[in-house]
Amino acid sequence: MFDIEKIRRQFPILTQKVNGKPLVYLDNGATTQKPRQVIDIVNKMYSEYNSNIHRGVHYLSAKSTELYENARETVRKFINAETPEEIIFTKGTTDAINLAAFSFGEKYIKENDEIIVGLTEHHSNIVPWQMLCKRKKAKLKVIPADENGELKFEEFKKLLGKKTKLVAFAHVANSTGIINPVEKIIEETRKTEAKILIDGAQAIQHKKIDVKTLDCDFYAFSGHKIYAETGIGVLYGKKELLETMPPYQGGGDMIKSVSFEKTEYADLPLKFEAGTSNYVAAVSLAEALNFVNSTGIENIEKHESELLAYAEEKLSSINGLKIFGKSRNKTSAVSFNIKNTHFYDIGMILDKLGTAVRTGTHCAEPTMKHFGITGTVRASFAVYNTFDEIDKLYEGIIKAQKMLS
Ligand code: PLP
Repeated sequence: MFDIEKIRRQFPILTQKVNGKPLVYLDNGATTQKPRQVIDIVNKMYSEYNSNIHRGVHYLSAKSTELYENARETVRKFINAETPEEIIFTKGTTDAINLAAFSFGEKYIKENDEIIVGLTEHHSNIVPWQMLCKRKKAKLKVIPADENGELKFEEFKKLLGKKTKLVAFAHVANSTGIINPVEKIIEETRKTEAKILIDGAQAIQHKKIDVKTLDCDFYAFSGHKIYAETGIGVLYGKKELLETMPPYQGGGDMIKSVSFEKTEYADLPLKFEAGTSNYVAAVSLAEALNFVNSTGIENIEKHESELLAYAEEKLSSINGLKIFGKSRNKTSAVSFNIKNTHFYDIGMILDKLGTAVRTGTHCAEPTMKHFGITGTVRASFAVYNTFDEIDKLYEGIIKAQKMLS
């Protein structure tokens, strides 16, 4: 049974008032709030188990290490990876994509090779590839989008060729909530030698992810967007591929032996985890995934898609409101502008009413340019949001519109 009140009670932050009004938190695309069990596990880590991992022979170090490696196993199961070596802990999605871009790029990208990204990517799935292309004199190709922000699959097919070494795209576009045609893009790419990286930052918290069924080479996501702490993320990579890639950073933990003559690198996954990992946040991620598992990702998906449908219908009835990214295939976000108003003004008035939304480019400047705008207001949903909160958003927008006109 999906009991929204029971779920909300698990998130202490939601009970507070902002500007004298009950908080309506609709900025979940940026980061999600944390359930009590995640807050408690972080507290427990520092109160009872804290010590650096993989290094000590003593009790606390062994305990921290065990919890960290258990967290890796929890992530493996959650995304159905084959082995825990395929789960690399990173700082977040950005760090995961940079790791892949550097390390895969070092090994596999040379002059005139081509990398394809979608037009509607977050900057973190554009800039690392641009940097790689600059370093290696390779070319970045962009899958165009239609007027709604949907990637043009037929155009993608034309871009794909012998020179394509990697296709990197978001599972869900963060600025619109559009779910990209992941399966179709993968199927097409598999007809070539190119590898596939999926930026799952806006998908992992909303949909069941099975990396084996998807058959992608890399899948990246951030813990903080799925109810865990900040400072932790995951790069999933196929073992055979990760094994051929050089380390991203050098330092402690990623080596077997070091001398001035020769350094031998550690096996997977530690080869890619130089330095002290954020083991506390990794444990918090496992706890967040436990929360998602016990709530049921299918229940979450169903609830959020009902919220989305309700929000789109309700907001569409507002005179002068335009939704960017209209599509039947969407999840958990509505991006909009209101005629003759600025998105910052709408966001600020909503804040005065206790409602938190995102305003601006959403780190997706090419998408904004494509729509011919400089930003939008984005309301994005999580498991704890309610229909009543969408009513409050609606009423807030009407009020803001009146004040600004
Ligand atoms: N990719 C997408 C689609 C995102 O929405 C975000 C964050 O909003 C990122 C990447 C970057 O995530 P992080 O800042 O956690 O590294």
